[in-house]
Amino acid sequence: MTTNLEKHVLGVSGGKDSAALAIYMAQKHPEIDIDYFFTDTGEELPEVYEFLTMLEGFLGKRILRLDPHRDFRFYLRAYNNFLPSPQSRWCTQKLKLEPFRNWVNEWLNSGYKVYSYVAIRADEDYREGYTSNNSNLIIKLPFREDGIDKEAVFDILDASGIGLPKYYDWRSRSGCTFCFFQQKIEWVRLKKHHPEAFENAKALEKEATKSGSPFTWSQGESLAMLEQEDRVKQIEEDFEKRLLRNKLKKEKYANPLRANLVDIDDLYNADEGNGSCNICHK
Ligand code: SF4
Repeated sequence: MTTNLEKHVLGVSGGKDSAALAIYMAQKHPEIDIDYFFTDTGEELPEVYEFLTMLEGFLGKRILRLDPHRDFRFYLRAYNNFLPSPQSRWCTQKLKLEPFRNWVNEWLNSGYKVYSYVAIRADEDYREGYTSNNSNLIIKLPFREDGIDKEAVFDILDASGIGLPKYYDWRSRSGCTFCFFQQKIEWVRLKKHHPEAFENAKALEKEATKSGSPFTWSQGESLAMLEQEDRVKQIEEDFEKRLLRNKLKKEKYANPLRANLVDIDDLYNADEGNGSCNICHK
């Protein structure tokens, strides 16, 4: 079906890349009326909501919250109390992709052509942002098209005055507090920065384990094991060793202040979305 009606949408995750893309599009293409949206699992860090509020201030526009209607616990029960994992990522399907799909389908079914802008940078390997067989849903990758790499993303955020999300001081990703893509050091730091969120994750894991869940949040050990003093010490020491190794590579970056930020990504081996999902973390 051909149509003249157009809708432009851009999903922000609370991460640096999608925020930078929102700023970039607002500055470079003010003539495009974009609906910014955030698929809210209800399990995000408070720093994510703070960052979104700052972004709204910059954009002069509200970021729509797409609500999955049912919360994480509802779906956990529906999935036999089995925790999600990289092998069984039902959380992304139910709490992120479905709300987006339902919302976009309303526009598509009303005869609109929908342009969805996705923050995949020029320096990343291509990973699917969102695919559709519908020829009226068109995925746009402005950062790839315009050669915007990670360094340029930092520049965009710096220049806007928004900077990086606060959680970046201790964690590399947005997404749920208990996201299983977290590194061990990030779990240790979650306990320090948001002890109630750590306890919540531990309680969910305990319940799941009782129900026979084949997965724990963190690979190979429960959070109850991970939080033991000796284990925390070991995780912190391992992280420090990586930090030291990483510092030796610093000189390859032109700007030493910036180098520290780049190192954070390398350290967590994360780059926000690597190995995880764009829709949750970019
Ligand atoms: S952030 Fe992590 S836990 Fe939350 S929906 Fe995405 S993959 Fe699942």
